[in-house]
Amino acid sequence: MSAGRERDGEKQGFTDSHEERAPALEPERIVAASFQDEDGQVETSLRPQRFSDFIGQEQLVANLSIFISAARERGEALDHVLLYGPPGLGKTTLAHVVANELGVMIRPTSGPAIERPGDLAALLTNLNAGDVLFIDEVHRLPRTVEEVLYPALEDYALDIIIGKGPSARTLRLQLPRFTLIGATTRIGLLSSPLRDRFGIVSRLDFYSLESLFRIVTRSAGRLQISIEEEGALEIAKRARGTPRVGNRLLRRVRDYAQVKGSGTITLEIAGEALEMMEVDARGLDRVDRQMLMCIIEKFSGGPVGLETIAASINEDAQTIEDVYEPYLLQLGYLKRTPRGRVLTDLAYNHFGKEVDRQDQPRLW
Ligand code: ADP
Repeated sequence: MSAGRERDGEKQGFTDSHEERAPALEPERIVAASFQDEDGQVETSLRPQRFSDFIGQEQLVANLSIFISAARERGEALDHVLLYGPPGLGKTTLAHVVANELGVMIRPTSGPAIERPGDLAALLTNLNAGDVLFIDEVHRLPRTVEEVLYPALEDYALDIIIGKGPSARTLRLQLPRFTLIGATTRIGLLSSPLRDRFGIVSRLDFYSLESLFRIVTRSAGRLQISIEEEGALEIAKRARGTPRVGNRLLRRVRDYAQVKGSGTITLEIAGEALEMMEVDARGLDRVDRQMLMCIIEKFSGGPVGLETIAASINEDAQTIEDVYEPYLLQLGYLKRTPRGRVLTDLAYNHFGKEVDRQDQPRLW
């Protein structure tokens, strides 16, 4: 993926700009994978601290553990790490776990928060040897800041320009050896010079049902929520492969159990509560269903361009691409093709609809 990447399909006559569209629906969605205000403190308290509490992503954890042990044995800073993948899968959590495993301090910040090279210089000069600098949304670093970051990553040096015009000189300041952990949901937007400076690049995948079940059960234990195994499994099934969603659904179902039931989350209570929240058996909510039904009804299952879908459901194309699509692609309900988005038979089956694509060649 890249910033200038062609959208699937063409605009097909829709000219309205993103700004004119309705605001993104993501913040209202209970199944939103992005951080919401209500997640607040609870999320911090639920964060695993060490690899031993970190559930799932086995391959990634195994690799990182080896790199960390090797760095520790050599008494060196860990190579710079780039973590990418959809929101809510544990990138921030992993960055903290890595710092804990290394036994060093972590300084968390984010791309948009570092506005000027001076902001970065202040952060870097405050690091101690071996420390982790965590930059969330690293694809949003301003270009001028990125340029200062390159020598810092490569040579642990900060080039400061003193003075202006012909008398300007560059002063090179030596920095302690540190580890940058960058996180991004959009690796395609990262400039290649920046991406190339990460020695370890790892992708986080959606979690298996079993991992999510363990995460929901662990969170219930920490929050002292009484839950039966079948109840936890039901929540895990509808958590869209995302721990943040699983934890949020758990808290909402707990409220329901408290008011409508005995306080314990049973299979029945979980089912009723999630039904009431309009989260269906596969974790799809009203917006997902609206989008899929729109492709079935208005575009005979596709191929249809992203911009056209966006205009039809009055949603922002970027939001659809970043927020709704990853999970639908993961479920195998949607495919990206050069001619646009296409729904698969699985999506039709989800709605109990007959596959009706007489005119369309089969694309998969
Ligand atoms: P990201 O940075 O990818 O958006 P976070 O690291 O903030 O995601 O994770 C969101 C929440 O999900 C965390 O607060 C944590 O409680 C939970 N979580 C994420 N990954 C795991 C995991 N592997 N095991 C247990 N809980 C997890």
